[in-house]
Amino acid sequence: MQKKTLVVASANPNKIREFSRLLGDTYNVISMREAGVLEEIEENGTTFEENARIKARAVMEKTGLPVLADDSGLEVDALDGAPGVYSARFCGHHGDDDANNRLLLKKLQGIPSPRTARYVAALAYCLPGGEMHVFRGTCEGEILHEPRGTGGFGYDPLFLCNNGQTMAEISLTEKNRFSHRAMASRMLLDFLGEEKNRAQQ
Ligand code: IMP
Repeated sequence: MQKKTLVVASANPNKIREFSRLLGDTYNVISMREAGVLEEIEENGTTFEENARIKARAVMEKTGLPVLADDSGLEVDALDGAPGVYSARFCGHHGDDDANNRLLLKKLQGIPSPRTARYVAALAYCLPGGEMHVFRGTCEGEILHEPRGTGGFGYDPLFLCNNGQTMAEISLTEKNRFSHRAMASRMLLDFLGEEKNRAQQ
């Protein structure tokens, strides 16, 4: 049977790759660019969930296809949950991972370990017509005093997982076992499986 197309409402190739790995058995996963949406969708919500909903609805309206949008970020307890929804633009401009990491270390200067933190991912699944389902995954860890590892992206070199390695020291396969996006994607897959069963009953 031909796989259904699912548009991922993101221009971030790292995220498209992660979602293709996570959901590719069930869906033909394409990026919003491949679906013809070239403009950026403004993320002006105050929570991860709200931003994910905004993106999913906007791209569904433009493509008429089922859409998956994610909004994710890092919450650091000693910073009262910052950078939160501002994770991608913490340093003042969008997507400068090195500057974001430097600023994070600066803000945490003098704060002893463990500097507990979590990655959060909100996934919004929007069907043609507007039906929306939202899932939240988290991954607990702590922020190191200096970066370790060369893999991953974003805050990964500073994010120490519960297994003693940073997210930048593990493979994508390993990351997909316990990351925030993996947890939210599993919730989505469980939901889709249940929905399929209901439809067949
Ligand atoms: P978004 O693309 O608006 O959801 O922004 C997410 C931002 O949160 C990224 O630019 C990273 O700074 C951070 N982030 C989210 N997930 C991860 C991850 O898995 N590893 C590292 N940083 C992440």
